[in-house]
Amino acid sequence: MKRSLLIKPNMDDHYPTVSHGQGIYIFDNKGKKYLDGSSGAVVASIGHAVPEIMNSMTEQAQHISFVYRSQFTSAPAEKLADKLNKLVHANQDYYSFFVNSGSEATETAMKTAIQHWQEKGFSTKNKILSRWSSYHGITLGALSLSGHVERRKRFIPLLEQYPSVSAPYCYRCPFQQTYPSCQLMCANELDTVIRRIGSEHIAAFMAEPIVGAAGAVIIPPTSYYEKIKEICDHHHILFITDEVMTGLGRTGKMFGIDHWGVKPDIIALGKGMSAGYTPIAATLASESVMEPILQGSKSIMSGHTYSANPQSAAVALEVLNYIEKHQLVKKSAKHGEYLLQKLKQIQFKYQMVGDVRGKGLMIGVEFVADKTTKVPFTKNVGVTKLVIDTAMEKGLLVYPAAAGSNGGDGDAVMIAPPLVITRDEIDHLVTLFEETIQDVQGQLI
Ligand code: PLP
Repeated sequence: MKRSLLIKPNMDDHYPTVSHGQGIYIFDNKGKKYLDGSSGAVVASIGHAVPEIMNSMTEQAQHISFVYRSQFTSAPAEKLADKLNKLVHANQDYYSFFVNSGSEATETAMKTAIQHWQEKGFSTKNKILSRWSSYHGITLGALSLSGHVERRKRFIPLLEQYPSVSAPYCYRCPFQQTYPSCQLMCANELDTVIRRIGSEHIAAFMAEPIVGAAGAVIIPPTSYYEKIKEICDHHHILFITDEVMTGLGRTGKMFGIDHWGVKPDIIALGKGMSAGYTPIAATLASESVMEPILQGSKSIMSGHTYSANPQSAAVALEVLNYIEKHQLVKKSAKHGEYLLQKLKQIQFKYQMVGDVRGKGLMIGVEFVADKTTKVPFTKNVGVTKLVIDTAMEKGLLVYPAAAGSNGGDGDAVMIAPPLVITRDEIDHLVTLFEETIQDVQGQLI
């Protein structure tokens, strides 16, 4: 057989060749059908092969697909910036800087925060704090921010030590406390860390409103982000939310942070912004963040050849219109609650399912060797991979996630189907997932 020269996530594994997609389903070239239970990597929020999006692609391509941002602006990019500003719905405007991936969006957010302080005359404020059990991207700047042990390991000498506070991980509280008697120790730790380092060295604090891949949906307790914002404001530190996974309806609100009613200074977006139809991501900066920059050097010192690409902008704009037109944020909340309750029934039935948690259609399932002690399975058993492979055999796609108190020594998957999923399709997803758990648990005993 001819050797494949395409580098894949694991060169020993077999990957089916995709043929096409339709709605919440993907088909391989042998005709096998897969229910896309994770929207790929929590991306395909409006499902596959939506005619409106295909039309917008061809329509824009008939005009122009590429212009360089230093030479032209374009109607789709301008409209997309206006649209995103309206979606944030704050008492000030948010400017948009378009990039091509979530990693670029979080790195642009870092640079914007540092530049904001520089232009105000505070040139030592250049550290960006973040949490353990977090993922902000794979490029070196974004990886420096990521509290993801496995992904950092090989590159430690190249990385900044930005993750500095604990995750608000109530299932395995890093302080062995319970909410609310803990009085939000995890949030207060940020204050301690800032005082140790000195706020004169810190530009911003970045957090995923709800932790995705690095924690299998860690949902902070009520008032956590109010406390975080209060601490940031007190120390003159910007608050950046990484909404690459949680943004644009995934959690049942337009933005993940909306569950806490807090407005961030800078927002990173990606994934669901184009629902996978084209690579585009964005960094949104509030008027007060932009003000010193607009009065000073006039622009953010960053940019990529494909930044503000009109073809991608036209597609993202149509995706956002589709989300609004079909009320997918509301549907995500409603169907997410239904799916969560169904998955919780599986948790009560099966010994290996330690926790099920979620908001909207972003749900994490954490596996344990012992439900009472919450001890994880030993790493060499490879439970996450077993679940993913077994589910795939049955025609269900789920997404691997890190879990466990030491940043990845546990097993978990995420279930995050397209926001267009119906109740009947959810029932089918749950049946396939339960069969998967039954099979895997049988193999583990
Ligand atoms: N931020 C978060 C919260 C993510 O989940 C991801 C990707 O999984 C990224 C950033 C990086 O995005 P990308 O893979 O598009 O670079």
